[in-house]
This record gives sequence, C-alpha cells and structure tokens, in this order.
Amino acid sequence: MAAAAPPLLLALAVLATFALPAARAVLEDPAGLLRRAKEPAFMDWMVGVRRRIHENPELGYEEFETSELVRRELDAMGIPYKHPFAVTGVVATIGTGGPPFVALRADMDALAMQESVEWEHKSKVPGKMHGCGHDAHVAMLLGSAKILQEHRDELQGTVILVFQPAEEGGAGAKKMIEAGAIENIDAIFGLHVADVVPVGVLASRPGPIMAGSGFFEAVISGKGGHAALPHHTIDPILAASNVIVSLQQLVSREADPLDSQVIVSQASVQRCSATVDFLDKDRPFFPPTINSPELHDFFEKVASEMVGARNVRDKQPMMGAEDFAFYADAVPSTYYYFVGMHNETRGPQAPHHSPYFTINEDSLPYGAVMQASLAARYLVEHQASASPDVNKNGLS
Ligand SMILES: [Zn+2]
Ligand SMILES: [Zn+2]
Repeated sequence: MAAAAPPLLLALAVLATFALPAARAVLEDPAGLLRRAKEPAFMDWMVGVRRRIHENPELGYEEFETSELVRRELDAMGIPYKHPFAVTGVVATIGTGGPPFVALRADMDALAMQESVEWEHKSKVPGKMHGCGHDAHVAMLLGSAKILQEHRDELQGTVILVFQPAEEGGAGAKKMIEAGAIENIDAIFGLHVADVVPVGVLASRPGPIMAGSGFFEAVISGKGGHAALPHHTIDPILAASNVIVSLQQLVSREADPLDSQVIVSQASVQRCSATVDFLDKDRPFFPPTINSPELHDFFEKVASEMVGARNVRDKQPMMGAEDFAFYADAVPSTYYYFVGMHNETRGPQAPHHSPYFTINEDSLPYGAVMQASLAARYLVEHQASASPDVNKNGLS
C-alpha cells in the first residue's frame, strides 16, 4: 500500500495537473479521439455541416451542391482531393502518399420523398429529403477527415476519403470504381447510421451483412379469344394473378428469406409462357454486402477501445441492399458496420426511408472517430504487407 502524500505536496501535484494544457489525443487512442470529436466546437461544426446538407437534399448523380460543400470543407482543412468521379464524387487523400492505402466511404444522395418532420432545418427542396441518413454520413466522414488531418504526421500510409454519389439504387459505388476512384486500395470501410441500434453502440458481423437486390420484368403470354368461349383461350391475367400470389406465398411464407428460390415456371400451371428480363443493363444488380472475416476481429478491437466491449454488438444480417457491396470488386478487404443512434429519450424513432425519419446528431462523433481510428490502425497493422510501389494510385 502506498504511503499517503503530505498535504503540501499533494496540493502542488494537483496544481501542476491543472496548470498543464489539455493533452492532445494520440491517433492510437480511439477513446481520446472520441473526446476530441465531442468537444463543443467540433460537434457544432459537424452538426452544422449535416444540417446544411439536410436542408438541400440532392438525388443520385445530382449532388452538385453537396459535392461543392465537401470540397469547400476539405479546402478549409488543407486536404487535397480529386474531383469529379462519377459526376459528383470526390476522392481526398491524407497521409504519406505511399502504401498501405485504406479507404473510408460516405454516400451523399437523398431520397425522392417529401419530408414530414417540422423543424428548423427541414428540407428546403419539395419532394426531396435526406430520409436515410446520408447527410450524417457526409458530416461523419468530414469529421474523420479533420481528425486524420490533425494527426497526419502520425499516419503510417495513406487514407483515401471517398465521397460517392447515388447509393439509393443508382449504383454510385460501381460508377466510382469504373471512373478509377478506387484503384490499388488494400481495404475499405463503410458505415450506416442505424435507427434500431442504441447511440454509442457499434454493430456488425463477419460475412454477409446486407442482401443483394435486383429488379426484373416478367412478361406472361397466353392466347386471346372470345369471352363466350373461354375454353379456347389461355388467360394470362389469371396466370399473372396466380404468379403474384404464389410468389408471395412461397417466398414470404414458405421459404427461409436467406435462401434463394426458383419460382417463375409458375406461369406454366395455367398453360402460359413467361419470360423474365432482369434489367441488369439499366439497373445493375446490387450484390450482397459481405464483410471480410479477417476484418471483424479488427473492427471489434478498435470499437472496444473506443466505446468499451459491451457497446460493440453483433448485428443480424439485413434484407436491405447496399451499394457498398460493389467495392468488393475492386478492394481485397471490405467491411461495413452500423453506428447506433437510437435514444429513448428522443421519443419514437421513425425508420429509414420514412418521411418522419430523423437523425440523432449525438451519433456523429462515433461515426467520425470510428472511421478515422479504423483507417489509422489499419495502416499501422499492415506495414509489412504494404507494396513498395510508392504513390501507386497516383493521388496527391
Ligand atoms: Zn436508404
Ligand atoms: Zn442509406
């Protein structure tokens, strides 16, 4: 047991503690970075960015003002970037300019829906609303940018910040890859705010986390004839009605939603033929989002250091789709997770894509710091595997 310090010495020690300036968080301390991002000036800035974007929602590939806002904020921080990719996309760079390269992604687009929430920063654009939370994602990634820029001399490689257009059905991620925005990157992290996850909690899982999705058009053909002679006809309306009911029953009531089903030959029951066009030229399939298993332990470790192990949770896979899945085509390791924002004291939380959807802005520092911490730590832990091909992605 240590001896008690004499009162004078103790008083001097306390004075000395208060006389020192507040210690700056180090990049290797996610909890310290979280305290930094929760400082009033930092929070006010992120909240302001998010509200400006919320007031001016723009649909996929039309995020011109959002993209300009992103670039203005990057300019103010002295962070270099390239633009445009995929019409409105912005790709910024922080760090050594050499390997390893790790990317962080935010989506920028809003939804074609009328906001029903009455508040000071309600959407000013009729029929358009940030009803999914992408306004928060942009503010979070700019928050990550600020933290990383404050610690740029500590970075042991390069962080690429990807602000992409058109997540909501427009496959903006795919277009970003085709535009060359995602070359030679070793790993990419993406996030989504989650209405059902408590604020302060981070949640994910290894392997599949979001479903694939696609659109199709089915043409069912029968044989015309006189209504008085129905036995000489083949009625495609009856067949189509049966197909709709059968598909609904089979897929929603009989099959595990995580299994795939083959159902269209249903039209032949009524002697009709059917063709199905999956429209993948105009509306590409979104593949399922699958987290690289090796990054899950890494995510849990960094998240635990930031919010404590009890606030790092498993997330069941969801049947929604996410165009983040496309990045797996271009990046060896991909990881997607959820940032909680549910808080009972705010009252009932409307779900994503509801006209009553709201963002709990208390979630902003969690997303900002988690992304920054994942990127910084990834660079530290992947020094040995880094390619010696310096500045290989040509960004500066
Ligand atoms: Zn959405
Ligand atoms: Zn979304």
